[in-house]
Amino acid sequence: MKILVIAETDGAKVSEKSLPAIAFAQQVAGENFTILAIGHNLSGIDSLTRYGAQSVWVAEEARLAKPLAERYAPVVVQAVQHLGADLVVATTSTFSRDLLARVAGLLNAPMLSDIISFAVRDGHVVVKRPIYSANLIGTFEAEGTPLVLTVRGPAWGKPRSVETSSPVQPLSVPAELSTRSEWLSLEGSAGGRPDLTQARVVVSGGRPLKDAETFEKYIGKLADVLGGAVGATRAAVDAGIAPNELQVGQTGKTVAPELYIAVAISGSVQHLAGMKDSRVIVAINIDPEAPIFQVADYGLVADLYEVVPPLIEELKQARSS
Ligand SMILES: Cc1cc2nc3c(=O)[nH]c(=O)nc-3n(C[C@H](O)[C@H](O)[C@H](O)COP(=O)(O)OP(=O)(O)OC[C@H]3O[C@@H](n4cnc5c(N)ncnc54)[C@H](O)[C@@H]3O)c2cc1C
Repeated sequence: MKILVIAETDGAKVSEKSLPAIAFAQQVAGENFTILAIGHNLSGIDSLTRYGAQSVWVAEEARLAKPLAERYAPVVVQAVQHLGADLVVATTSTFSRDLLARVAGLLNAPMLSDIISFAVRDGHVVVKRPIYSANLIGTFEAEGTPLVLTVRGPAWGKPRSVETSSPVQPLSVPAELSTRSEWLSLEGSAGGRPDLTQARVVVSGGRPLKDAETFEKYIGKLADVLGGAVGATRAAVDAGIAPNELQVGQTGKTVAPELYIAVAISGSVQHLAGMKDSRVIVAINIDPEAPIFQVADYGLVADLYEVVPPLIEELKQARSS
């Protein structure tokens, strides 16, 4: 089975988000996979050569300097055809949802997203993926090649390194690339905090945080002292307490950090859908019956306004000593 892994890039540099897709390829095909990175003057290509891929293909030119799915999709299609790939795979993310859906459309190929397991039975690919806000796991059978997949990061983890380095080869770019879309700007999170979906620690706050200033004073500060990212519930976002890009959950981002601290969050199924794969979950909630305590490894029944400030001070002191 030949696998083409699409490395995630922002057009200028390779992202660590590519790693679970590479881990998937290793587990399914050993060393029979190729990685494709697209952009312009890309940095971080070396980081893709450590995992036993047969080749790392790099498609670079000025028209690909920004990650526009409309322009990247024909490049992926060309690589799929060049390789004769059976599977095209990337880690689930905003980038891959946008790009691989277009690739599947151009190839008239089946697509399954966010998969957590993969098997071949009687010549058919059988995968599992979370459905209904991750409350159920569905089993799906796919027919036809190539098959386009996105893989759920926490389920596949990190690839193992090998001693030999994969060769890096340039890939030509199709002459015709769409110009119907134009890149205007990217609004990133403020304050230099880590990316929410990549962070090892995430501190999230809920509706009771009152306003943006209070949210920053308690949730932002606690995240900063732990070197973590900030998340929020949809209720907090809808109330204007936190910006939209911080929303965690079914209609927000999926995170799986080492440590997730949920402050004044009730634990709705929609919120849990985005964070219950976190390794350790800590909940601070004034209500001992709050559903969040059912998934928490550590729970503190307390008023956030009383316990978060001394917690920040303790952590500050622990860090400086
Ligand atoms: C289609 C759909 C999609 C949705 N998608 C998402 C999503 O992606 N993400 C998401 O988060 N939600 C989502 N929701 C909304 C979700 O159903 C909940 O309404 C939301 O998660 C609740 O947010 P909350 O926990 O901040 O607020 P609440 O449910 O109001 O809970 C606040 C909690 O804080 C506690 N509390 C109050 N005061 C304090 C204090 N001083 N100290 C400590 N604890 C305190 C309370 O006991 C309570 O448990 C979605 C809903 C729908 C219908």
